[in-house]
Amino acid sequence: MSTKNLDAGAIANKKMQADSSYDIVIIGGGLVGASLAVALENSNKSILVVEPIPFSSNQQPSYDERTVALTYSARQIYSAMDVWKDIHGAEPITNIHISNQGNFGQVHLNNTHSGTPALGYVVPTRTIGQTLWDRISQTSNIDMLCPGVAENIIQTDDRCQVEISKSDPSNPKTPGFSSVIETKMVILCDGGRSPLNEKIGLLPDSYNYPQSAILSIVTADRKHDGRAYERFTADGPLAFLPLAATPETPRDSGRYAVVWTTKTDNLEHRISLDDDNFILELQDTFGDRAGVLSQPSPRKSYPLKKSSIKSPTNGRVLALGNAAHTVHPVAGQGFNLGLRDVASLAELIFAADHQELGSQDMIQQYIASRARDTRMVEQFTHSLIGIFSNEYPGISILRNIGLTAVEHCPPAKRFLLNRTMGLHKQKSRLSMGMSLGSPESTRSTTN
Ligand SMILES: Cc1cc2nc3c(=O)[nH]c(=O)nc-3n(C[C@H](O)[C@H](O)[C@H](O)COP(=O)(O)OP(=O)(O)OC[C@H]3O[C@@H](n4cnc5c(N)ncnc54)[C@H](O)[C@@H]3O)c2cc1C
Repeated sequence: MSTKNLDAGAIANKKMQADSSYDIVIIGGGLVGASLAVALENSNKSILVVEPIPFSSNQQPSYDERTVALTYSARQIYSAMDVWKDIHGAEPITNIHISNQGNFGQVHLNNTHSGTPALGYVVPTRTIGQTLWDRISQTSNIDMLCPGVAENIIQTDDRCQVEISKSDPSNPKTPGFSSVIETKMVILCDGGRSPLNEKIGLLPDSYNYPQSAILSIVTADRKHDGRAYERFTADGPLAFLPLAATPETPRDSGRYAVVWTTKTDNLEHRISLDDDNFILELQDTFGDRAGVLSQPSPRKSYPLKKSSIKSPTNGRVLALGNAAHTVHPVAGQGFNLGLRDVASLAELIFAADHQELGSQDMIQQYIASRARDTRMVEQFTHSLIGIFSNEYPGISILRNIGLTAVEHCPPAKRFLLNRTMGLHKQKSRLSMGMSLGSPESTRSTTN
């Protein structure tokens, strides 16, 4: 894959020649903003993506050491966008083992139950980002302003003005400038990270979990055979996600991305452990089901929260992805949900003429189409944390009964499988694997 246009300077030059007026301005070139831009590449709309932090910076918050589990539905969306073929090194998850520390109840999900080649895929966020940014740099109707910070949005009845300053927070010496871009519609994909949300009155309802996630990559002395693990512990869920082998991976070993939810009280202790003691504690918590663990990569922690905006819009501004809803990473749902937002909105934008773009009709239609899925994922992830982090006497017996019941009850298993794969009640064309290139297109891209 070519990386010639991933250089921040090249991208900045490209946007310098651009007009100061676009049909759509996307604020944030992270996982969701960049995915939306690429989904709109064949629309007849002009698009500007504004992103403060260059892809190559190790401060880039969306493309970092994280490895995300993509659902099978996410693969369908990226396939329909003709992007999946360029995302190299995605490791298929063919089965999932769910257990509860100290109890016997277990659930096994398998792709033979779903009839699909995989239940999901594990991909480093940097790989996804590189594919998306590369594609943006080659697409004539999309400009990227990076580094650029959206500072404010001023609205009139029929348009918005986005005030943008150019400064790279990871390199404060970059010369600054400011400009005003006029647009019909602003899509806020800043991950809820900027003060902009508050400035324009999009106030989320937030809750900070008393937990953080510690991330590391470890090697096991056994192959993973596509198996992912979700183990509920007293601290919270501990996930092992199978990774593609690298040339350095020893034969007959497996690499896993570990997402270890840790209570805030325990974080400092766990994050400061040296490699040997970290592995000891991890192995003790996880058991030996994946084999003997070794070689942990440097650890990084993320505080965990949930937040959501009841009505993610103000005038012609619409929030998407984490800017609209942030969920606990248990079950790997956050970005997958954001990508389904992208699929629904892209379809409406394709169908909209210039008059309709950013209109209340269009925005409300989008919000209605996403309300149920968003609510279900928010409730599903939050209740998993509630049920499995609860230490009241008797609850552990109920958890065991629950896991055993799901394992032996086909409808319950099917529900869990559909949630895990993101395949429940798909409504958008992209999530059904159909491209948006032309309304007649029914290209199925799932195989
Ligand atoms: C530990 C952990 C594990 C996870 N694992 C999974 C998983 O397995 N599967 C899954 O689906 N999800 C997972 N997630 C969730 C996933 O990472 C997020 O849902 C996803 O990153 C959201 O993408 P986003 O583009 O909405 O926001 P972000 O990733 O936060 O990106 C926002 C972008 O906006 C930019 N920005 C900020 N302010 C401005 C501004 N003023 N102007 C312009 N741009 C701005 C930022 O620089 C950034 O590039 C996980 C999350 C965590 C914390």
